Amino acid sequence: MSTTYDVINPANESIAATIEHFDLGATDNAIAKAAKAFESWRTISPGDRGKLLRRFADVVAAHKEELALLEITNSGHARGNALWEVDNVVNTLTYYSAAPERLFGRQIPVPGGIDVTFKEPLGVVGIIVPWNFPMPIAVWGFAAALAAGNTVVLKPAEYTPLTAIRLGELALEAGIPEGVFNVLPGKGSIVGNRFVTHPLVRKIVFTGSTSVGKSIMAGCADQVKRVTLELGGKSSNIIFADSDLDKAAASAPGAVFDNAGQDCCARSRILVQKSVFDSFMEKFEVGVKKFRVEDPNLATCDMGPLISKKQFDAVQTFLDEPIAFTGSAPSGSGYWMPPTVLMPKNAQARSWREEVFGPVVSVLTFEDEAEAIAMANDSEYGLSGSIWTRDIGRALRVSRGVETGNLSVNSNSSVRFWTPFGGFKQSGLGRELGPDALDSFTEVKNVFISND
Ligand code: NAD
Repeated sequence: MSTTYDVINPANESIAATIEHFDLGATDNAIAKAAKAFESWRTISPGDRGKLLRRFADVVAAHKEELALLEITNSGHARGNALWEVDNVVNTLTYYSAAPERLFGRQIPVPGGIDVTFKEPLGVVGIIVPWNFPMPIAVWGFAAALAAGNTVVLKPAEYTPLTAIRLGELALEAGIPEGVFNVLPGKGSIVGNRFVTHPLVRKIVFTGSTSVGKSIMAGCADQVKRVTLELGGKSSNIIFADSDLDKAAASAPGAVFDNAGQDCCARSRILVQKSVFDSFMEKFEVGVKKFRVEDPNLATCDMGPLISKKQFDAVQTFLDEPIAFTGSAPSGSGYWMPPTVLMPKNAQARSWREEVFGPVVSVLTFEDEAEAIAMANDSEYGLSGSIWTRDIGRALRVSRGVETGNLSVNSNSSVRFWTPFGGFKQSGLGRELGPDALDSFTEVKNVFISND
């Protein structure tokens, strides 16, 4: 351990905690410990591994209020969101606790004997987490990785390490053996990069910016290291004239301003069919003005502050485009900003093309289905999106036409632990969650057993 780091409460800029950062030596020690623990963790019977994960879920559930408060203080998350995030940890752990007993291989008909496949764990998995959803993004990686028999080294983001550190302690309390789940707060360039270069780390799960993701993918090539990437997004909320416009407009603020827009799935582009544009904007404005930006400790809070001064400054650079209307935000200390709706000149505008990662949305119109699909696909990203229509044929055609990993029809929900999540194009590589995530934490081993 070399340096200390002050964790800031973004709602008031006070120091929430001071923590120790792992240096290179401490990182190597933790990786060695995880590699040693792998030898026994992989041999624990599937039923017992499942039981331990369920116990981990129970201990997290018993600390729901504490973890939620920690996230509100560290990340400025609205209380309702923070409570949901703890539940997401519990539910994802519970879901994958059933996996060890269902990690089936195959028996394949061959001449001269039998052929069976096994899903073997990889070893130590390195999970690198961004600051926007510290608990959910961590658990989407570590629950499936542990269930498949791997051990984990996890690096939280510099800004938001507190809940991850606490989850590491709670894992031990639940009886997860020492060395199986290790949380290493520290710098990306030191701890995160060491996960990439260390030969005993057999896989990286990286969630974060597309630029860092590319460098991690390049680094992993050196050892043909397995990699899952969950990167940026610029997702479309496509609203057709035949939709339930009241519902589409009422839920559009939450679809982009939730977590202050710091969401890789934020629907930060709204595409409205021209014939209902005025009516949509009228209803949308009502929803934006009602969106409560306030002390995240309040149960009524819809949106808290941005995570940091740096993020606040980056988001302000998008405000040189025409503003249609804004909501409101507290003044004073903290990185507060009102929800803001832009009307860019055209689809070349920066706010239309780049991920803002703040409470800013851009609105443009389209004539017909073909134009809506073309506009949605005019992006290097392809992570999420929504389609609002009452026409089931159109919903199907547009769902198949939009190049993105996760779509919702007449809904803005993006991530469910039961179903696969991940991006097309530069939004990522591979899928997390759902029944297939185990495949990305295992290697298929084929064994032929001769009749002779
Ligand atoms: P970031 O890329 O700066 O950092 C992400 C993590 O990587 C942090 O833990 C950081 O310390 C670490 N890191 C930085 N440099 C590294 C290096 N050279 N080697 C190893 N690790 C390194 O991203 P951020 O600013 O924390 O998060 C915002 C970004 O994350 C946005 O672009 C957003 O879209 C993306 N994101 C994607 C998803 C998804 O599921 N697709 C989810 C959340 C966030």
